[in-house]
Amino acid sequence: MTINTVSSLAQSYIQLEDRYGAHNYHPLPVVLDRAEGIYMWDVDGKQYMDFLSAYSAVNQGHCHPRIIAALQDQAGKLTLTSRAFYNSKLGEYEQKLCKLFQYDKLLPINSGVEAVETAIKLARKWAYNVKKVAENQATILVASGNFHGRTMTAVSASDDPSSYVGFGPYLPGIKRFKYNDLSSVQELIVDKNVAAILIEPIQGEAGVIIAEDQFLKDVYTLCKNNQVLFIADEIQTGLARTGKMLACDHIGIKPDILLLGKALSGGTFPVSAVLANDDIMLCVKPGEHGSTFGGAPLACAVASAAIQVILDEDLATNADYRGKELRLGLQEIKEKNSIIQAVRGKGLLNAIEINDSPQSETAWKICLTMASNGLLAKPTHGNIIRLAPPLCISKQQIREALDIIEHSINESIN
Ligand code: PLP
Repeated sequence: MTINTVSSLAQSYIQLEDRYGAHNYHPLPVVLDRAEGIYMWDVDGKQYMDFLSAYSAVNQGHCHPRIIAALQDQAGKLTLTSRAFYNSKLGEYEQKLCKLFQYDKLLPINSGVEAVETAIKLARKWAYNVKKVAENQATILVASGNFHGRTMTAVSASDDPSSYVGFGPYLPGIKRFKYNDLSSVQELIVDKNVAAILIEPIQGEAGVIIAEDQFLKDVYTLCKNNQVLFIADEIQTGLARTGKMLACDHIGIKPDILLLGKALSGGTFPVSAVLANDDIMLCVKPGEHGSTFGGAPLACAVASAAIQVILDEDLATNADYRGKELRLGLQEIKEKNSIIQAVRGKGLLNAIEINDSPQSETAWKICLTMASNGLLAKPTHGNIIRLAPPLCISKQQIREALDIIEHSINESIN
């Protein structure tokens, strides 16, 4: 599959985006038109299994009827008030999430990266107000290989040249430790100016790199012992993706600040949230942070429905079982095929690492072949293919997907 082999209809859409859209993405040449559950259809009516889930934003499956009903119902009543006034949806929604995740308060915002920005502002305020860090000295510790989004703060935290090169000057007050290397955290955390550690329990964009349980637990303990906030970026790993409601639940730690996004709206539009207890959240006063759309009644109605679907359908358990089946099948494919170097993941956040250099085209070619054969996935960091279907996927669909993956790998390397 290339741009030249897709239909003229598909080509016309691709050309339109190329001509009038910024070139800040490199999509596969597939033009999608509708979706339902784990399936998507292109403009020519070809069906695909979705193995990306819009980077884990569609955990509940595409166009979930209960989420879409909530969206349509609220859209006809009240969509946006701004926070200049109260609205009849926000409080109920905040209460629902606070009770579910056991925090005192929620701050509603929109995209994932805005939740990250919010957490960093909150941690800095807390550092000055509570920890008594000297003015403008607060430091945030971030991990090597992190991905927290695309704003200037997030790219200042990144060590991936494709994220940060050419965008300086960078935000000061950020230091980096090595993911899964406790000594590098120990070295930095003793500095009295450290306000918080910001960490993904699994680094999705880096290629599904999993933090070792003991490492995460030890980092958490170091935070407690050094009066440092533990901020978990669960924007990709949260909301049942890894087989539990939160990835942190696997090891029983409760972050001081929890960041949610993506699947919080079931893939309808950007809704994110920052949760924390009063001692942290109340450091920010009226007028010090916010967003026109954050806490919109439309967002609250949709997010309430999206969360309820995850709970009612027990998507965490399904992610756990289906994830195990998927990894088992992928391991079997790996044993027959030296092109796969590694298989890893938790729940339905998985990856296969291709035995080739990150600069090679092999993973891209496999993804093109998988698309031709009816399964959509995308390489990350060149030679890693993330496999993250909607969490409503069935056992039978996992089997079908494994057949497509095996057959596509064989087809693309022979
Ligand atoms: N944090 C993590 C862990 C992510 O995976 C992402 C997006 O992929 C973000 C933050 C940024 O979210 P958004 O693209 O909604 O700004």
